[in-house]
Formats: sequence, C-alpha cells, structure tokens
Amino acid sequence: MLTIDGSRGEGGGQILRSALALSLVTETPFRIINIRRRRSKPGLMRQHLAAVHAAMNVGAAEVNGDQLGSRELVFRPTTIRSGNYRFSIGSAGSCTLVLQTVLPALCLAPGPSDIELEGGTHNPFAPPFDFVADAFLPLLERMGPGISAKLIQPGFYPAGGGKIRVHIEPTPRLVPVDLQRRGKILDYRACAMIANLPRHIAERELRTVAQSLGWDPQHLCIEEVAHAQGPGNVLSLKIISEYVTEVFTGFGERRVTAEQVAQRVCKQTRAYMSAQVPIGSHLADQLLLPMALAGGGSFRTMPPSSHSRTNIEVIRSFLPVDVHIVQIENKQWEIRITKNEEGCL
Ligand code: AMP
Repeated sequence: MLTIDGSRGEGGGQILRSALALSLVTETPFRIINIRRRRSKPGLMRQHLAAVHAAMNVGAAEVNGDQLGSRELVFRPTTIRSGNYRFSIGSAGSCTLVLQTVLPALCLAPGPSDIELEGGTHNPFAPPFDFVADAFLPLLERMGPGISAKLIQPGFYPAGGGKIRVHIEPTPRLVPVDLQRRGKILDYRACAMIANLPRHIAERELRTVAQSLGWDPQHLCIEEVAHAQGPGNVLSLKIISEYVTEVFTGFGERRVTAEQVAQRVCKQTRAYMSAQVPIGSHLADQLLLPMALAGGGSFRTMPPSSHSRTNIEVIRSFLPVDVHIVQIENKQWEIRITKNEEGCL
C-alpha cells in the first residue's frame, strides 16, 4: 500500500487533504504516517477529521485511525458517489479546506452534487471563501466542471457558525489549461468585513489601503456582518485582470492594529502586481492538484512556496506526472505539469 509521510516538507494538513483527494479520484488506498508532524499540535484536529469523514462519505471508503489526535490513518476508497452532502466541521474549522478535499472527486463524479458546509468561512491559514469563490473556482471551471458557491453566513475563527453551499456539475475529465498571462488590470476592490466589532476598524483598514496603494473611495467597501456568532474582521483585496482574478486576505487579530493588518495585505498585493504574473502563491499550490488530474497545464507565478513544493511530492506519489519549475525572470516562475513517459492517466 502507498505510504505518505506527513512530516515531509511543509508537514501540515495539506499533505493529508491532497492525499485524500488524490486517493478518491485514482481509487488508490493509502496509509499516512506522521500526520501534521511539523505543526505545533500534530495529528488530526477537528477540521482534519471532518475532511477525512467527508472523503470517507464521498468515496464510500473504509478508514482506520480516524480519531482526534491520531497521527496515522489508513484510507481505502471504493467508488465516488455524487449527491447531497452536509458536512459540519464542529468548531471554527475551515469549510473551504474540507471542500477542497472532496471537490476534485465530485467534479469527476457520475452526477451533480450539492454540498452544505458549516464552520469557519474566513479562517487564518486557510483559503477564505472569497478567494475560493472569486479566484480558485473560476480557474477550476476552465478545466471543465461547473461550480457555484454561495456564502450563506460568514463564520470567523474562533467562534465559527458560518455556512456555505456549493453546487457541482461534473465533467467526464478535466482538461489542461495554460495560465501564462495576467493581462490588463480591469478593476480592483478592497472589502473590510467586520462582525461584532467597532466600525472604525474597517474604516482604518480601508484608509490604510487608500494611502498605501493609492486606491480611490469607489474601490473600497465595508461589510458589516449580521448574526455572526463571534467577533471577526477580514480585509480582502481583489485584483480583477483580463485573464484571472486574485484575492489577498488579512485577518484582524488581537494586539495587531488595523493599520498593520492592512499593510500586510497591501504588501502581498503589491508583490503580486509587480511580479506581473497571473497566479499568486496560494493559488499556485492549490492549482497543482487539479492540473495534475487533468494530465497537464502550466502557469506563471511567484517563487514556489513550501506548500507548492510539498504538494508536488504528494501528487507525484499518486499520479504519473512530472512537474517542471523554471525561473523565467527575476520575479516570475513557470510551473508546468506534463504526463511522464510511462504515464497514462
Ligand atoms: P496547511 O497549512 O497545510 O493546512 O495548508 C493551508 C492551505 O491554505 C494551503 O493550500 C494555503 O495556500 C491555503 N491558504 C492559507 N492562507 C491562505 C490565504 N490567505 N488565501 C488563500 N489560501 C490560503
């Protein structure tokens, strides 16, 4: 049986989630050891367990080791089942990370699916809902499936209580795409979301964005979230270009000023704009898996992150693909996925 070492490279939850996603699609059983070994609280936490159980449901899988804190797991999928699913993450665990675990399989399932996920929708260290809906899913759709995602209720760490709904029209196979150009920047927006916190936090964040990036007031908006279970503050900067949309996010934290939160997001956004690439570093690590399932594809991006490099290792354990990383210029890298010689997907 294929063994995945969860302590390799980044050593986080993505190794587990990517292995689950790839196992479902390729119908390859696997064992994972040293789960999240490089995180401060290693092993399966609630949101990882939710991802395991979601994959177990979608793939009618037999699972051993699915307990909180477990550092080893065996996963044996049978067939992918489309249909209606509801996954509740329990704590403020990230809805989007659970979604990404089962999404590739449901994009290639025999019929359409509807998923409802409850938990956190805007969590630090996870793809925020707006990033998934506006940046990631439109690119995945270019590979074949039809996907619509709706934010029903935002949920923030640590209280949670968020909800999203996703509808998936599958495709018989994913097709390769090449994302080489960003094109002209057509529009840009900064949205400061606040829940159960004073409005001046959002105002100060937007003032900082306006000063730092020179954005005019018509590009700035405040969204006050009603009915949130706890406090929350998220600043999202969206860059809509001819060929791609990117989203950069900052999270309000205790003992970090609104100005500092905004400065950090402005820094990421400026780095993306000056690199003149279509794909930022989070999008890069998340596009690798569907591109590998498509048997090819390429994109231009910023320096490959440790998440990207680790994800490539996991992908290559399941699929006969080669991943070529080439530095094109000072700030531009190209990542290209090809089938390898003996490979037939
Ligand atoms: P891990 O740290 O192994 O659990 O993986 C976290 C995943 O969340 C990676 O795919 C990251 O690219 C993604 N991620 C973390 N922060 C963001 C963000 N601000 N925007 C988009 N994706 C993110």
